[in-house]
Amino acid sequence: MLVEQIVENYRIVQERVVRAAERAGISPETITLVAVTKTHPVELLLTAYQAGLRHFGENRAEELAFKRQAVEKALGAENGIVWHAIGTLQSRKADWIADYADWFHALDRVKIAHRLSKRLMENGRKLPALLEVNLSGEESKAGFDCQNWETDPAQRQKLLTEVEQIARLPHIQLTGLMTIAPWHVPASDIQTIFQRTHALQTWLRENVPSIPWSHLSMGMTDDFELAIAAGATHIRVGRALFGERA
Ligand SMILES: *Cc1c(COP(=O)(O)O)cnc(C)c1O
Repeated sequence: MLVEQIVENYRIVQERVVRAAERAGISPETITLVAVTKTHPVELLLTAYQAGLRHFGENRAEELAFKRQAVEKALGAENGIVWHAIGTLQSRKADWIADYADWFHALDRVKIAHRLSKRLMENGRKLPALLEVNLSGEESKAGFDCQNWETDPAQRQKLLTEVEQIARLPHIQLTGLMTIAPWHVPASDIQTIFQRTHALQTWLRENVPSIPWSHLSMGMTDDFELAIAAGATHIRVGRALFGERA
């Protein structure tokens, strides 16, 4: 992709962000655009960097580690890029994320937190992380089961217990929630999922006050305006910036 093309797509995405933020009565600067570069070659990341993008999102652990090393080789380590791991992580690949990610958006089970924590402790890193929550009940979606959190006290209690276990791990800095909207459903259903996720965050803030609960990662190319309206602080956008993936 040419740099001009990414600059233009980036401008259009930023305009959409500004309009959505204005409608929601919030400042657009509070929203971080994570450019999702998964499946694209390293050259595209370098072009995206030239276009001004600084937050990159990858969904596979080895791919993030490989691309980070390649980009640092080309631009130096002090390049200002923030690397976001956004995909479900298998525990045997946790070391890649502990070593190379700056943010982890997909913390979806306690076991993964322990695996990450062990490695982070060894190499003296800290990792800001977001709890992935599943409010749609879709089997294909990862995340802590929060499908009925408003009405099911047992589900809430289970979540609290697990959050408290993660909160005790000093190298994992839990700061908020992440969710993925269901596919192929009306916009009103997606809006409801995002609003319920925001309400869950508010509830967690009251019930686990040791965690800041300040970040909310939700919204992709097709639904990020709805996410911003519901309080997203991080949107994860791939196709609107870089076109359809092969
Ligand atoms: C691929 C991906 C995105 C970006 O999706 P687009 O539709 O290309 O914007 C966002 N979040 C996650 C977790 C992804 O895997």
